[in-house]
Amino acid sequence: MIITIDGPAAAGKGTLSAYLAQTYKLAYFDTGMVYRAVGLQMVLTGLDLNNKEEALKIAANLTFQQMIELSRHPDFRSDIGSNAASVVSAYPEVRQALLAMQKNFALSPVFADGTPANGVIYDGRDTGTVICPNADLKLFITASAEVRAERRYKEYAAKGMSTSYEKVLEDVISRDERDSKRSSAPMKPAEDAVIIDTSFLSIAEVIEEITPLVQAKINQTR
Ligand code: C5P
Repeated sequence: MIITIDGPAAAGKGTLSAYLAQTYKLAYFDTGMVYRAVGLQMVLTGLDLNNKEEALKIAANLTFQQMIELSRHPDFRSDIGSNAASVVSAYPEVRQALLAMQKNFALSPVFADGTPANGVIYDGRDTGTVICPNADLKLFITASAEVRAERRYKEYAAKGMSTSYEKVLEDVISRDERDSKRSSAPMKPAEDAVIIDTSFLSIAEVIEEITPLVQAKINQTR
């Protein structure tokens, strides 16, 4: 069973993925991590994010293990890591270099401790369109920029990270713009994706909407 969940930042993909992964014993691949790893490595090495050749070198040599190690850095999920990821993810060559790692995960999906899983949840921007076009179920989760910025701002505040709502909103809007307008694998729903706007929905309501869709797919694949 493969489920793809695409959509913009802070739409609720992560929370939903975690719920589905736990409920249906599916491994989870947060594909934003590959771009965060490359972007953060550029920042930590003091490289200019506009240096496409260096970004490509890092992407071509990135291993799953290095990605996990970089994910422990405090800036991996900060606005520094988010913006760096968004810049390097716009380079088609970088996306190409990171494709196999993402696609291959579905061949023998495992949990973090190495035990086999019943399938995979992919979370990202292009997982239903590029990474796994044959997924059993494709979801596109979205919400207004203002609602997403508010959610992200609260997350940052809870972690004690100092920023303002206005700055978070500005980052959300510029990331959306870059992600949806880039030439290679722009963020968009797959033609057969189910689109859910979570602006006025609680996580429980989103789960209520999605559960019958997942159940129907499970029944079909039995
Ligand atoms: O999902 P997350 O916020 O961690 O993603 C960080 C950035 O990585 C996104 O803003 C986007 O630019 C890029 N990304 C992408 N394709 C994916 C996942 C993330 O381009 N499948």
